[in-house]
Amino acid sequence: MAQEPTITARAEDDKIRCDACPVMCYIRPGLTGACDRYANRDGELIRVDPHIVLDRTLAQGGKVVPFDRGGDWDGRLVAGGESFVTAVGSGTTYPDYKPAPFIVSAEVNGVDMVTVVTEGIFSYAGAKVKIDTDRFIGPEQAAVRVDGEAVGHVTTSEYGSQMLSLGGVHHLTGGSKKEGRVTCDALLELCNGKAVEFAIDGGAKLVVQAGKPPIVNGAEEARMRVGCGSATIGMFAKQWHGKVDEVVVVDDHITGVLSEHQAGKLLGIRDTGIRMKGRRSTPGRYFQVAEPGLGWGGTNISDPLSILGAFDAKLAWPGLRLLLVSTTGEHYGYYVLDENLVPVETEVPADLYPSVERIRENCEPALSSVLFMAGAGGSLRAGVTENPVRLTRSVKDSITRVTCGGAPVYVWPGGGITFMVDVTRVPEHGFGYVPTPALVAPIEFTLPLAAYEALGGHMDHVRPAASVIEREAVREMAPFSDIPWPLSTRSQG
Ligand code: SF4
Repeated sequence: MAQEPTITARAEDDKIRCDACPVMCYIRPGLTGACDRYANRDGELIRVDPHIVLDRTLAQGGKVVPFDRGGDWDGRLVAGGESFVTAVGSGTTYPDYKPAPFIVSAEVNGVDMVTVVTEGIFSYAGAKVKIDTDRFIGPEQAAVRVDGEAVGHVTTSEYGSQMLSLGGVHHLTGGSKKEGRVTCDALLELCNGKAVEFAIDGGAKLVVQAGKPPIVNGAEEARMRVGCGSATIGMFAKQWHGKVDEVVVVDDHITGVLSEHQAGKLLGIRDTGIRMKGRRSTPGRYFQVAEPGLGWGGTNISDPLSILGAFDAKLAWPGLRLLLVSTTGEHYGYYVLDENLVPVETEVPADLYPSVERIRENCEPALSSVLFMAGAGGSLRAGVTENPVRLTRSVKDSITRVTCGGAPVYVWPGGGITFMVDVTRVPEHGFGYVPTPALVAPIEFTLPLAAYEALGGHMDHVRPAASVIEREAVREMAPFSDIPWPLSTRSQG
């Protein structure tokens, strides 16, 4: 679908020149520019993709039609406060002293609001990725690669998850040309919801897709651990009490031991003489019982007995019942000590098995989460106002709401407008690229019209939202039901 040009173009032979980014492509008739976002259609420069407008009457089955549309209403289910003009497909202005492609106004709850809409070009852009797995994916700071090129690095572990930092200006523009191109391609695929394969130096091969389970070394992750080994002991100690004498919850971070743990002490559980490998932290909590890996509880072990020493003969007894279980309940084994105090594997008793099931039940589905992160630079802000710092202040003062394709963003404290957005909340194909290389992402700034005027906005470019919505190139979409309506005010949900 095509839409009206938003930028200037000039003829040169039969080609036209796109000036929507610094690449300044010459585009032949019928062809697109280097980014596939603009095309030459019969000598006219057009933005190729449809311009997305969110219409929340569609989310309600398309049945809610305001009665005051006026006599010439043509039946389209759009109205000021019910439709939100996103930046997806809106185009970009370059250089940025030009006003943003669309600056639209609509009355919402009796207040004139304005939304400034543009597809921002972000060199300072990347993705923060959370992968719900305990499995070892690679050492901290290890390079994350696509096609052999470093596109990011491993950061740290969060609770039940491993974190990656991908992209960013150093990979996009600070390395070789190939590194920049591969990084840009990988980010674009990931942000647009596609699966991307990564290889980590000294670690795992991953397939990551936003909102889908991660695949680690070919195995799809199903569950996110219920907690560390110590937390698991705390959560389930009562359910084990009386059914088993000792429980070890194997975990790469903190392995828990019931009889030594405070939870076991409070329940009066007898000392068992168990001896653990690894470094004792506090009672019943052990670090480094094994190396990180793809085995039990994110360790490299496949035989859980390998993390136990010999039982203390003064405290242990033949017949002692021992449950070994991982933090997801995926791995478990039940053992009884023989006459020589050696654990012998036995079938898990029927009354104990539900506790293993309970651990599994408490594990949430493992997912990959991708947050696009970028900084709306000084020049992008100039497309909104002639005095860019006022926009920043207005965002910090919560007068201006920032959205990304209508999705809510988190704006970092401190200077600038550095934001993060969950890519699964952005309309599909919301992200693009230009070969500088840089990511293109939708960004909208919504604020009261009076405040826009006060911060030096481009008032002579404000036009009614309806004039945008009624164009042929627009595609209306229902917004996600679980995100706040971007035009809502405090008195409107
Ligand atoms: S890369 Fe895309 S936006 Fe940039 S000049 Fe070429 S066609 Fe226009």
